[in-house]
Amino acid sequence: MPSDNLSDYKKKRDFDKTSEPDGSEVSFDWADERPIFVIQKHDASSLHYDFRIEVDGVLKSWAVPKGPSTDPSEKRLAIPTEDHPLEYADFEGVIPEDEYGGGSVIVWDRGSYENAKEEDEDGERPSIAEQLDDGHATITLHGEKIKGGYALIRTGGGDDDERWLLVKMDDDEADARRNPTSTEPESVKSGREVGNIVDEGE
Ligand code: MN
Repeated sequence: MPSDNLSDYKKKRDFDKTSEPDGSEVSFDWADERPIFVIQKHDASSLHYDFRIEVDGVLKSWAVPKGPSTDPSEKRLAIPTEDHPLEYADFEGVIPEDEYGGGSVIVWDRGSYENAKEEDEDGERPSIAEQLDDGHATITLHGEKIKGGYALIRTGGGDDDERWLLVKMDDDEADARRNPTSTEPESVKSGREVGNIVDEGE
């Protein structure tokens, strides 16, 4: 991963201009369990989904151009981006044009997740942070739209140019016929679609 704290995040933003969170407070009334994950649909210069999972107090983040699939045969490219503060999981709104990224954001899906790596012979399994360092993490998502096992697999690139894949595991929640990014475009937070977000200053 390209970074391990919030310094890149803060460097890229002017908090006098953007309504994005500055990393100072956290509460999730929508989450029964921790850690949490969120998938934000981001209508930037090229539309993508930001896949973020809570790891050691930050949101580890990837930009997934096509968003997650529920079909195990569909491998979705996931490009690591800088760690985000936990409360970014609640962010929905407009990032100013001249700020990093720019464009409208909705909370497309959210929930808790679990470490799903199989235990070894000694009944132990690596933490998510260790799995990410190793380039292969296995998690179970408990979202409203996206559920079940997913693997995050590093496939190449250098330190600043990593490429990962986000892949559905073949389990009870796998479904090659579902296509939630097309059929369920609305925010799970507000019911709005990304095209209906106006700058209201959160
Ligand atoms: Mn983004």
